[in-house]
Amino acid sequence: MAAVHESVLDAIGGTPLIRLARLGAGIAAPIYAKAEFLNIGGSVKDRAALSMVLAAERDGLLKPGGTIIEATSGNTGIGLAIVGRQRGYRVIAGVADKSSAEKSDILRAYGAEVVLAPTAVPAEDPRHLFNVVQRLAEEIPGAWLANQYDNLANPDAHIRTTGPEIWEQTGGRVTHFVAGVGTGGTITGTGGFLKETSGGAVTVVGADPESSTYGGGDGSPWYVESIGHYLHPDTVEDRMPQALRTELIDSYERIPDREALLAARRLSREEGLLAGPSSGAAVAAALRVARRLGPDDLVVVVLPDSGRSYLSKVHSDAWMREWGFLEEAADGLRPLLDA
Ligand code: PMP
Repeated sequence: MAAVHESVLDAIGGTPLIRLARLGAGIAAPIYAKAEFLNIGGSVKDRAALSMVLAAERDGLLKPGGTIIEATSGNTGIGLAIVGRQRGYRVIAGVADKSSAEKSDILRAYGAEVVLAPTAVPAEDPRHLFNVVQRLAEEIPGAWLANQYDNLANPDAHIRTTGPEIWEQTGGRVTHFVAGVGTGGTITGTGGFLKETSGGAVTVVGADPESSTYGGGDGSPWYVESIGHYLHPDTVEDRMPQALRTELIDSYERIPDREALLAARRLSREEGLLAGPSSGAAVAAALRVARRLGPDDLVVVVLPDSGRSYLSKVHSDAWMREWGFLEEAADGLRPLLDA
């Protein structure tokens, strides 16, 4: 029986762990996926949003009548909109003007206000998204900037919830934890908890886009959204997020876009799990890791969000072909129709 909750906030977390039996066929070590897209707002970031808002209240940074501000068009914005509105705050999302209209629409649907600003201007330009958001936070009385990259309540969400859930769901049998690294909150919090609880027996692997600088790439562009890190040309020094503790990551699997996207497509077709491209990268990494392991090992991989947000990209054959990620496949129905 699924739980009954008095509030949508109580329904955040508690996601299922699902064996990837078909993708893992022929591999001795079982691979289990943590289905974070089943969170109430559709992603792993609901956990971080709830944790950051409650911590800000506790620390007196958010008071009744306050305003939550963050530069995000994605999953963190949705999480903050849900949690923020439920707790009675005004929520303002600063969104890059090149971002898709659907992303702003969903934020507005949850009751957030959307401020569009460019990111394609130099970092010191006052019109730049980060400066616009900073200025709003300074000018609006009672405003609080969530700042997920440097907010330690972000990894803390995973120390308190994701990590313990995985430990309990696997009966302490997990030996390898694989996750993508955006802010680093998920891998730091969950990986840190699992390492500590297992007495160092759990290996933590970062799934990183091939050219991301986290795993040693040159920072050249990649397609897979929401994970990886690069040295922005406007940035003087390569600043690591404070939410990320790199010493907890034992190794990186550097995943080319094509491998990540094809893994995401196999996940929906073969496992019935419609997930986004960062899930594909994580699963591709988990498969690489699991192939090197034995039957006594157990791999857990995080699926951060749903493929519904990417139907016109990774889950579109036309888009995949256009970008050269999918070979022109013979149309299975064509011979029948032409006959
Ligand atoms: N995948 C998706 C789809 C995300 O939205 C995020 C969060 N930006 C991540 C992966 C990375 O998670 P984290 O920020 O906890 O490292």
